[in-house]
Amino acid sequence: MEAPSMDSVKVAVRVRPFNQREKNAGSRCVISMQSGTTTIIHDPKNPEHIKTFTFDLAYWSHSGFQRDKDGVLISTGSNSEFAGQVNCLKIKFYLYFFLIYKRDVFRDLGQGVLDSAWQGYNATLLAYGQTGSGKSYSMIGYGADKGIIPNVCEELFKATENKGKNQQYQVTFSMLEIYNEQVSDLLSKTKKAGGLKVREDQHQGFYVDGLTSVPCDSYAQIERLMEQGLKARTTAATSMNATSSRSHMLISIQFKQVFLDGDLTKQSIINLVDLAGSERQKSSGSERDRLREGSRINLSLTTLGNVISALADVAMGKRVLHIPYRDSVLTRLLQSALGGNSKTLMIAAISPADVCYEETLSTLRYAERTKKIKNKAVINASPTEKLIKELKAENNRLLSKLAGLGNSGKRVADKTSSSDVGQAPSNKIILQGLGISDKHATFTNTDGEVTVTPQSKCRVIVNGVPTVTKTTLQHLDRVILGSNSAYLYIGFPSERSSEDLARFDYDFFQSELAAAEGVSVDKLGALNDKDGKVDPSILAVFQDYIKLIPLVAEANQMSEELMKGLKMELKVKNLASSDSKGYDLQKEVIVKVTNRETQEVWIWSKAKFINRKYLMEEFYQHFLDGGDIHVAQEDDPFWDPIEAIHLGSAHVWLQSLAYGIKLEEQVELLNSEGLEEAIVLINIIPCSSTGEANGEDDVVIDPLELLGKRIDFQIQIIQCLGVKWLKENTRRGIQIGYCAPLAPECSLWVLFFSYKIYDLPITLYTKPVWKNVNAKIEETIHFVALNASHKFLNYLQKNALIVDLWGLQEGCAELNCTQEDLITWEGNILVDNTKTLTAQETNQGTSNQMAELYLKLLKLEQETELLRNINRELREENMLLKDTLRGCSPGQGQ
Ligand code: ADP
Ligand code: MG
Repeated sequence: MEAPSMDSVKVAVRVRPFNQREKNAGSRCVISMQSGTTTIIHDPKNPEHIKTFTFDLAYWSHSGFQRDKDGVLISTGSNSEFAGQVNCLKIKFYLYFFLIYKRDVFRDLGQGVLDSAWQGYNATLLAYGQTGSGKSYSMIGYGADKGIIPNVCEELFKATENKGKNQQYQVTFSMLEIYNEQVSDLLSKTKKAGGLKVREDQHQGFYVDGLTSVPCDSYAQIERLMEQGLKARTTAATSMNATSSRSHMLISIQFKQVFLDGDLTKQSIINLVDLAGSERQKSSGSERDRLREGSRINLSLTTLGNVISALADVAMGKRVLHIPYRDSVLTRLLQSALGGNSKTLMIAAISPADVCYEETLSTLRYAERTKKIKNKAVINASPTEKLIKELKAENNRLLSKLAGLGNSGKRVADKTSSSDVGQAPSNKIILQGLGISDKHATFTNTDGEVTVTPQSKCRVIVNGVPTVTKTTLQHLDRVILGSNSAYLYIGFPSERSSEDLARFDYDFFQSELAAAEGVSVDKLGALNDKDGKVDPSILAVFQDYIKLIPLVAEANQMSEELMKGLKMELKVKNLASSDSKGYDLQKEVIVKVTNRETQEVWIWSKAKFINRKYLMEEFYQHFLDGGDIHVAQEDDPFWDPIEAIHLGSAHVWLQSLAYGIKLEEQVELLNSEGLEEAIVLINIIPCSSTGEANGEDDVVIDPLELLGKRIDFQIQIIQCLGVKWLKENTRRGIQIGYCAPLAPECSLWVLFFSYKIYDLPITLYTKPVWKNVNAKIEETIHFVALNASHKFLNYLQKNALIVDLWGLQEGCAELNCTQEDLITWEGNILVDNTKTLTAQETNQGTSNQMAELYLKLLKLEQETELLRNINRELREENMLLKDTLRGCSPGQGQ
């Protein structure tokens, strides 16, 4: 066996010509190159300000070229520094070529890939750069300017023709695309919904299950396949409403050489990758929570950057916690190329133009980090089948011997042997990793019974369940030590059968943990569907969940070691929640963060958690490097401003309103898991325009009786009983929020606040109540629906009012009581269904005026009513007085 060859990733920079747009804009070239290896970039704002990068190669493809009669770009002559795709003279006039030797991209990079392949090394070539910088041009090429991939393939077949008789070759070709973390097979006509799955195999590492892999025996065949694949790529991009600039294309060539005389097989996998455009995506959210290097649109590219950074740190001798290969599809597939068994090359494609300065600089910096990675490539040679057969036979003999021993009651090891596991060198088994203690656990074999005993407080999980005491292991038990070190226990030969070990992959371990926490695809409600089909959105939630389990464990471990006192827990939002019609709400994975000491609680979205996890790792790394960990609160990844927390919600069905019936309810406020958080006392009372509750007479038998009429009703929130949030900590408070009941189809709300937009439901919050487990609220809001429409009446019959319970904690901002604005106008909210007033038909200005007019109208109506009442009273009084007067008149003596 040959020693592995330690190699840095080889990096080449290539600068392309100006494109038409850049020419039209009068762009200046900010790139210069020297001595074939140095790239210099000038800051366009400050031309003296330059940065110099030295890589293995620097290709000047910016100027000094012309087109030959075949349309190929070639150098203008011996003064030109131009580097083309392939020096066409090479093939035609070999001698002449040496005389006017011109550098070309294929010669260095392509030939490098080929040489590795012939020697039996795996080889990987990546093209990196912003969209339009020349990645595809270099890798695939356009028209007569064929790129590296076609040239590599052509040369490969050419060379096989010239090799001896005692050698046989096998070339297989596959081509895939990764877009939005989904893998599609570019050589398959049938598209699989959701893409192909990336699986892990003990020997093969990660691979794409079900990917078409075509055995090829000529370059012409490969050329056809590539054409077909590229066509599929553009079609797919168009149908996904994206551009191919957002997807990665990966061509894999498996090259096998069989040496018949030496009984030797050499095998090489050549990965050729045209990466997605590296330009930073616009990100949203606060500066701190923006995802690093762009948004999640291209998780694979972001992760590639993180993997490269981590590997560069490893190469510099830094202690690195975790290399996030698993975080994206691309890095899974390139795991061995980046940090393992592969000779790896990268071409960094750049634009020459001043406007691209920032992006180009970032590409060069990326290349600089990549350059630091060291790979350990080994020749994949194995004795051919004869030897393999012999070895297999030998192994079988040994296995049956062992099994025989087992059956006869004699074990391999029949005396007690005991091994401690942990970080300390004194352990028999030394285990590094997050969450592994100096002495973590003890494995003991007593007469063939193997047990694991955790040290106190050390995390040991068997088959998904945490254990604290001595536990006997059975063949194929899954053992997790610390945050994330996972093992499969293989029992003695007598216990084994022909089981398929491959199914116990990483996902299996995590799914099992999830199941132990009560989360599985079934529990998430995937099978609720009548047709028995699994809802893909639920599968996605489950995948998110199991992906986050190890990350959350690691985050907890870091928090503990840094004494941050945070407890992070994975939860599923909306696990048992439904919308106002009673349909399930979209579920998503969230992380609940609790400060053990202060009991402050935060809820983080998945994206926020993942981003924080990176920041925590950086912070932790800094700590391991001996740095100071006391930072300003705002810079602490373990800290966040305190906010109100959504605790649960209740459904109050509005049906009775459609019949004019009063509703007095005590409803459970349920959290997202369906457990009771509190009870709310709430009344919905049909009333008169002045707020007096309606009587029996106002009840209708058919809601249609209310059609076109005005409906007044009040929502009274009386009290919240037994609030769990306050039982846990009495210094806390609560607020209740609910959306004003209006049919979503009714865009005809007249709103009170000029800043509100039509169609948006208004959320009303009660005033906060602090420090009371049975919080008294006692708030009433009056609603008015003018001209009750069919839609509105229908809405009342089919929908519920969703009442939300919010938890307040010391120091958090209270939720905005939009009511304040309402109450200024006598506590009425107006629902109008008059056809003329729709958002589409009126602009904001007029709608505001209309709103005002309605308010005035309503007020006038009430005043009139009041006047009428006064009038009536006066008249009655008048009559009474008159009567009295009449009685007292002198003509009527007593
Ligand atoms: P990318 O794949 O990085 O998005 P392309 O390879 O499609 O970019 O290149 C964008 C444009 O620039 C294409 O029209 C291509 O022909 C041209 N181009 C790129 N690199 C070169 C080069 N070295 N020489 C000549 N033209 C180039
Ligand atoms: Mg491209």
